[in-house]
Amino acid sequence: MQTAQKIAELKNELPSGVKLVAVSKTKPPEKILEVFQTGHTVFGENKVQELVTKYEVLPKDIEWHMIGHLQRNKVKYIAPFVNLIHGVDSLKLLKEINKEGEKNNRIIACLLQIKIGKEDTKYGLSQQEAEVLLSSDEYNAMNNISIQGVMGMATFTQDEGIVRSEFQKLNSIFKSIGKKYFSNSDKFKELSMGMSNDYKIAIEEGATIVRIGSMIFGERIYI
Ligand SMILES: *Cc1c(COP(=O)(O)O)cnc(C)c1O
Repeated sequence: MQTAQKIAELKNELPSGVKLVAVSKTKPPEKILEVFQTGHTVFGENKVQELVTKYEVLPKDIEWHMIGHLQRNKVKYIAPFVNLIHGVDSLKLLKEINKEGEKNNRIIACLLQIKIGKEDTKYGLSQQEAEVLLSSDEYNAMNNISIQGVMGMATFTQDEGIVRSEFQKLNSIFKSIGKKYFSNSDKFKELSMGMSNDYKIAIEEGATIVRIGSMIFGERIYI
């Protein structure tokens, strides 16, 4: 019952406007069910195959978020049920999501991933690239996706000053994109940032969604 207790404490601590995505990657369905039974329904996975497998065996009222890097050829597997795709980092990927949304007769909610961290491995668009995407005719013709905000990952460092300034940068990009491209829409409102190590800073800097794994489920063991 340790996991259930952890999530209860965490939810108590989060401000009411902040949505918690419980990141369950590498953890077995039984663990997810344990958390689900406490009343928490939002879970995040970063691998398509794992997400699909868990979707199939777990209760259908779970809200599934795809938080990892998504390859275009795998969009079709999650398009029928995914609730939010956090990591959209190209127009090509968005086109594929739109196509699969159309096939499934759904509007798929997405966040644009913005690169704020220093690691080369971190995916994401620059502000300028995001703006090019949002200005394109192709994007403007899409009817089966809905961009609801941005997502980012801070540099993995103990230096809180760096993390805070990266979150501030993401929030300022979020605001400026919102003003420029979504001024007549109330949908663009999500700022997804903050994980186990830095969610407190993320919330102070305006996060509306935090993605927390190891703090709830314990350290991940990769084999
Ligand atoms: C794994 C992961 C998380 C959660 O990380 P923790 O440190 O376990 O909280 C959040 N966001 C993304 C994109 C992840 O891949």
